[in-house]
Amino acid sequence: MKTRNFGFPRIGAKRELKKALEQFWSKEIEAEKLLQISRDIRKKNWQAQSILDDIPSNDFSFYDQILDLIYTFNCLPKRFKNLQKQENLSDLELYFALARGFQNEISDVKAMEMTKWFDTNYHFIVPELYTNTSFSLGKTIKIVEEYKEAKENGFNTLPNIVGPVTFLWIGKEIDKGFHRLDLIDSLLPIYTQIIQKLIDEGATKIQFDEPCLALDENPLIQTCIQKVYQKLTTDFPQLQITLGNYFDCYGANLDTVLQLPIHTLHLDLVRCGEQINDILNHPKLNNDIHLSLGIIDGRNVWKNDYKKSLEIINKVVHTLGKDRLILSPSCSLLHSPIDINLEDEHSKIHPEVKPWLSFAHQKIEELNELKLLASEKEASQHPLYIRNQIDIQSRVSSELVNNSSVKNRVQNLTNDDTQRTNDFKVRKIKQSIALQLPLLPTTSIGSLPQTKEVRKNRSLYKRKKLTEEQYSNYIQNEIKESIRFQEAIDMDVLVHGEFERNDMVEFFGEQLDGFTFTSHGWVQSFGSRYVKPPIIYGDVHRGKAMTVKESAYAQSLTKKPVKGMLTGPVTILQWSFVRDDQPREHTCQQISLAIRDEVTDLEEAGLKVIQIDEPAFREGLPLRKSDWKGYLQWAVNAFKIASCGVKDETQVHTHMCYSKFNDIIKSIAAMDADVITIECSRSQLHLLNAFSDFKYPNEIGPGIYDIHSPNVPSIYDMLDFINKAKIKIPLEQLWVNPDCGLKTRGWAETKTALEAMVSATKKARELF
Ligand code: GLN
Ligand code: ZN
Repeated sequence: MKTRNFGFPRIGAKRELKKALEQFWSKEIEAEKLLQISRDIRKKNWQAQSILDDIPSNDFSFYDQILDLIYTFNCLPKRFKNLQKQENLSDLELYFALARGFQNEISDVKAMEMTKWFDTNYHFIVPELYTNTSFSLGKTIKIVEEYKEAKENGFNTLPNIVGPVTFLWIGKEIDKGFHRLDLIDSLLPIYTQIIQKLIDEGATKIQFDEPCLALDENPLIQTCIQKVYQKLTTDFPQLQITLGNYFDCYGANLDTVLQLPIHTLHLDLVRCGEQINDILNHPKLNNDIHLSLGIIDGRNVWKNDYKKSLEIINKVVHTLGKDRLILSPSCSLLHSPIDINLEDEHSKIHPEVKPWLSFAHQKIEELNELKLLASEKEASQHPLYIRNQIDIQSRVSSELVNNSSVKNRVQNLTNDDTQRTNDFKVRKIKQSIALQLPLLPTTSIGSLPQTKEVRKNRSLYKRKKLTEEQYSNYIQNEIKESIRFQEAIDMDVLVHGEFERNDMVEFFGEQLDGFTFTSHGWVQSFGSRYVKPPIIYGDVHRGKAMTVKESAYAQSLTKKPVKGMLTGPVTILQWSFVRDDQPREHTCQQISLAIRDEVTDLEEAGLKVIQIDEPAFREGLPLRKSDWKGYLQWAVNAFKIASCGVKDETQVHTHMCYSKFNDIIKSIAAMDADVITIECSRSQLHLLNAFSDFKYPNEIGPGIYDIHSPNVPSIYDMLDFINKAKIKIPLEQLWVNPDCGLKTRGWAETKTALEAMVSATKKARELF
């Protein structure tokens, strides 16, 4: 039996990479310094993993592993090849230009597109593919260089590389008339050359990750996988090839992959435990294939339960024998925080929760301990096992985790709790009497500029340098000024500005039972941007009101309606590490109830309009379409639990950021928010088509200006957008608002933009 890891966090225990990157970008350090810091991180990572049999190389990246491949294969978009000549860029400068764009007095080249890596919150750079895209290798090949570097440090590593099928599949066809997988014939020889070089340097095994196998069944993918791995196994008979898939099972692709003469097949047994039975009983399981059992959760933070893992291991040993078995994490540990031991006595983490957690370093140890225990006759008597089970048991029985009144409340939910009293037609009339809004009401999405001063005051308060009262006075003053401003420009539905919030999930998590926060649990989101997701460990419960004070204060300042602002249950769930001892759906229902209580309190405090943001609604969709229905059902239900406790007169809004709506429009309609605001100015309102084609019955506010850029939109442009919107959606259903929250913008541009937005709306009311 062997142990293996195939991807370790690359950001450094103290976020060294972030600091180095940002210093390099702002020209505070030279390239050599950045290279040195990255070598140190790699060396430390290899050392930390050295207790395992197989440890990875090529899992490091300055920015993203797909960008590394684009660069290695020299398949850069033309605009960058021209840029390089024109600006005489160094290799490193060119590499970062691909990710971040390049602007100076002469050149202005847009960055390559970025999108989410499968269903994670990690973003990769999307390969731009053309009919005539060609691939070639340069002088230095990162995969080979990293392998050599590890060897110089005394580590014979397992090079990890995203396979050619997945690389092409996640790419984007820029011109028409071809399929991106057609490029496989010119890409495959590049892989062959790289493999040969690795073998020349002494590599005996390589792992190819092909997570496209976790997507919907597709004959194109299957054919291509067959072709590639038949060829590679034939060309390199001595090489031990691992085919890696994660984030779901092989599903309908299982037949195809089991027929390949590969050395090892990697399975994500966390996401899909049942597949092990399918595989062990499969008629095509050949007699010498090895299995890499992904039993340690690479995507979550919980300590592994050795009892459960040993049961699986023993089952596999029983059928395959010990020698054909490798223990590994379910996927790369890129998605895990680094080290729970960094959470010392100053950490924010709940001390009782800490022993339940395992981050990347601990997961490596778990692999090692499991291997050891698997060879013990009486594993259950072993101190390592006993210690593990004490922690596991303490979590199961903890009063922190279990709150029976929350569980009962979820149990007792009825259909009535997920329905408004009357349907939208009736509510619309009652709301129009209660709110007295003009045609094309104007509003914003919630946050107003989070200036340096706002952030400084919050940080002073958190460090106890400001008293509760001082901070609260400061926030109230910000709210007052922002209400005065919105009144002055004649907005219709006002917001308080969200000045008291750091982050739309953390702010709620900090006030809810069942959540804890780390001080150092960073995970890479993209490039040098890392996030620190909250950890949901127990039944979620709202003790006291979370937002009523600020919202009610804002409402007390004006006769115009103020919107109460909340984050929705699906988004809170999606952007947290969630408990693994109950289905996501159940955790989500509990969050819904907490939000529902807040909604009721806001209504009672006099707020007539309440917005429940769900920007992560689409993000939660499972990878395979066949699983969509189940998710959409509970996600819609979660929103309804949160939103349906109010009277007809109270207007419920929701908001979603840039996303594809056409294939989930039915579910969005089923959420039955009175008003939805969406981000769509960058698509020239194209995204609104989903709503018009569906004849979306409720009200909708398409974002009419892009908040991601400091450019102030002209009245004319916005009027044009309102006109475009009215062609798609009846005027009586339309609202006017920016694309998203304004917290990243400055006040000067925000004032001019919102003022112009109101003017454009007034013009539209006259004209249309
Ligand atoms: N209400 C939030 C804000 O305005 C919404 C943010 C979002 O959609 N991501 O900041
Ligand atoms: Zn948004």
